[in-house]
Amino acid sequence: MSRLAAFFGVVWMLFGVAPAAALELNLKGDFIQGGLVVGTAPLGSRILLTGASVPVGANGDFLIAFGRDTPAAQVLKVFIPNAPSIIRKLTIKKRTYNVQSIEGLPTRSVIPAPEDLKRIRIEGKALAAARAVISDDNSFRSGFSWPAKGRVSGIYGSRRILNGKPRNPHYGVDVAAPKGTPVHAMAAGRIAFAHPGMFFNGKAVIIDHGLGLTSAYLHMSAITVKEGARVKKGDMIGRIGQTGRATGPHLHWGVRLRATPVDPALLVGPME
Ligand SMILES: [Zn+2]
Repeated sequence: MSRLAAFFGVVWMLFGVAPAAALELNLKGDFIQGGLVVGTAPLGSRILLTGASVPVGANGDFLIAFGRDTPAAQVLKVFIPNAPSIIRKLTIKKRTYNVQSIEGLPTRSVIPAPEDLKRIRIEGKALAAARAVISDDNSFRSGFSWPAKGRVSGIYGSRRILNGKPRNPHYGVDVAAPKGTPVHAMAAGRIAFAHPGMFFNGKAVIIDHGLGLTSAYLHMSAITVKEGARVKKGDMIGRIGQTGRATGPHLHWGVRLRATPVDPALLVGPME
């Protein structure tokens, strides 16, 4: 054994291997309204984001996100077994949102008929149930890519005026492209939901990427995957269409972390 190796051997015995590294907290992402942050905490940690419990994977992975109107001051608390807690004050950057007016939608898609409301409620519940599953899966580690190529015709957070009526903000990115253009999974995951025709969303697919991160692909003309199937990042899942409430062929691409809508555009770079 060389003197150098012997020296490091002694250091090893005195101080142990890497307890300091094991207690680190890693955070990577966008600390901005609509942003997603991927974190790693020491094994067995319990985490709170401003008082709300954050699911932690068996490997220490966790995800946090900031909503469209999240207040700037947030606190991340990480309780580590047999070690001091980590408390991080986070400052979330504020955004301003534009107003998007869309005219020419069929009246019934903006002011649903009484007989439509029951259907809308049932479909909404099924969608929420698919999104409520928290799987201990780190498929999101595949990274993210644009699900389709085309013109971006709608962005995250816009206030919406539909046929002159104020409606919910737009929680997604719209990509306009000809009917039939392929739609791809933004990341690896499992097909959590595939619906042949929803009142608002038309042909819709939801992919579960783990720890409550889901992506939605709406208004498609065709779905080419089955519920329960596993997909890799970039796998084809359907084709662009104009089903549900839409004025032209486009993909509505939405991303949520549990109940919080995330801005998909922050997950990917400029479209190539
Ligand atoms: Zn949209």
